[in-house]
Parts: sequence; structure tokens; C-alpha cells
Amino acid sequence: MTISHTRRGLLIILSSPSGAGKSTLANRLMGWDDTLSFSVSATTRAPRKGEVDGREYYFRTKPEFQQMVKNDEMLEHAEVFGNLYGSPKAPVEAAISQGRDVLFDIDWQGGQQIVNSVLKNAVVSVFILPPSIPELARRLTERGQDSAEVIAGRMTKSQSEISHWAEYDYVLVNDDIDACEARLKTILQAERLKRTRRPSLLEHVRKLDQEFKDLTT
Ligand code: ADP
Ligand code: 5GP
Repeated sequence: MTISHTRRGLLIILSSPSGAGKSTLANRLMGWDDTLSFSVSATTRAPRKGEVDGREYYFRTKPEFQQMVKNDEMLEHAEVFGNLYGSPKAPVEAAISQGRDVLFDIDWQGGQQIVNSVLKNAVVSVFILPPSIPELARRLTERGQDSAEVIAGRMTKSQSEISHWAEYDYVLVNDDIDACEARLKTILQAERLKRTRRPSLLEHVRKLDQEFKDLTT
């Protein structure tokens, strides 16, 4: 796919309770459209097995993270499950000014901060719900990357995360992963086609007007 140079990029925010499938969906979307840019967050949480610094996250100490916040380097930041998480501002600004769409995997607090920022017109927010709570617990356990204690903590927080569902533009139930991925792609395609996001349409309509005039002369 090609990057649009005639519009600013979109900020696509994916949120869900932990384990509902947003990282899986984000990876699938990134694999589908190589013009998409993923916002790699900074976090003070310890890396999970297989996670690479700079790929899944920028793993930072608490003082390093706090310094980034102090330097105004974060677009948004929040405490989630006792750790600090934040989206570095510079790569996002660079991407959207080139017409690239940016994908965020962040919680509702981060989503709210971006929606309330100067970038709000570029935001498309999507909340992912699990089909059921037992299935959410099963996915968290099956992922096999967190201790039983961490999983229990995440399950406890799920209800409050889910309570923010109505603050999002779109809500998807991630029952079948392929169907959910297809719906997410539909959302992105439709959002890209919005009139307000296509300044080049004006030029096209002017051309059509000129062609009407040419017909009558
Ligand atoms: P999150 O990023 O929201 O914490 P993940 O994307 O890591 O969630 O998904 C949690 C686990 O559930 C992973 O093992 C993933 O493969 C699995 N999973 C995601 N979506 C589905 C689905 N629709 N059906 C079954 N398993 C799924
Ligand atoms: P995990 O530790 O499972 O990778 O992520 C835990 C939670 O933190 C998820 O809900 C994830 O979306 C959220 N998160 C990840 N990065 C950010 C970020 O930069 N900002 C905010 N606000 N939340 C984030």
C-alpha cells in the first residue's frame, strides 16, 4: 500500500481489558498494511520472555521514564497495573505529518488523554471486548506470559477497563479472531475515506467543474 501525502495520518487507538486480543489484532493490522506505524510505548514493567527493547516496548527505569515525562516527550502516560506506560511524542508527530497512520495499543487513560489533546480530530478509537469473562481468563492463562498473581490482578482490573467501552468510536467483540480482524480493517478503510480527511477531493471536484464548463463552450 502507498502512503497518502495529501492528508495527515490517523491515530488509531486500540484498548481492551488485558487478554482480550488487542496485541494480536495490532500485529495482524501491521502485517496487512506496511504503511501503518506502530507507536512503541515506553514502560517501567519488566520485559516478558521474547520481548525486545525498542520492538514491543522501550523498557525504562522509573527515573528514566519520569525524566521523559518531565522533558515533555510523552504524548500521554499513565499508571497501569502498578507500572508506568507512555507513548513517546516525536515518532507519532513525524509519522502523521508524513501522512502515515499510527496504531496505539494503550489503556483507556491514555486514550482519553489523546482524545483531549490537540490531535483529537485525527483519532479513531476502537475498544475490544472479550466474548465472555471465563474466555478472557482462559486467554490470559493460555498466553502463558504472566504469573498466576499477575493474571489475577489483571482480571480484577478488567471490569473497570471494560466500564470505559462507551467512550470509544467503535466497539468490537473479539470472538472469532479472523472476523474481528476483518471488521477492524473495514473501520480503518472507512475512516480513511471520510470526506474531511481527503483534502485532495476539492481539487478533483474543481477539475470536474472545469470539465462541465468545457462541455458548454
Ligand atoms: P491483549 O494484547 O489484549 O492483552 P493478546 O493479543 O496478547 O491480548 O491475546 C491474549 C491471548 O489470547 C493470546 O494468547 C492470543 O493468541 C489469544 N487470542 C486473541 N484473540 C483470540 C480469539 N479471538 N480467540 C482465541 N484466542 C485469542
Ligand atoms: P502489557 O503489560 O500487557 O503489555 O500492557 C498492559 C496495559 O498497558 C494494556 O492495557 C496496554 O494497552 C497498556 N499500555 C501499553 N502501552 C501503553 C501506553 O503507552 N500508554 C498507556 N496509557 N497504556 C499503555
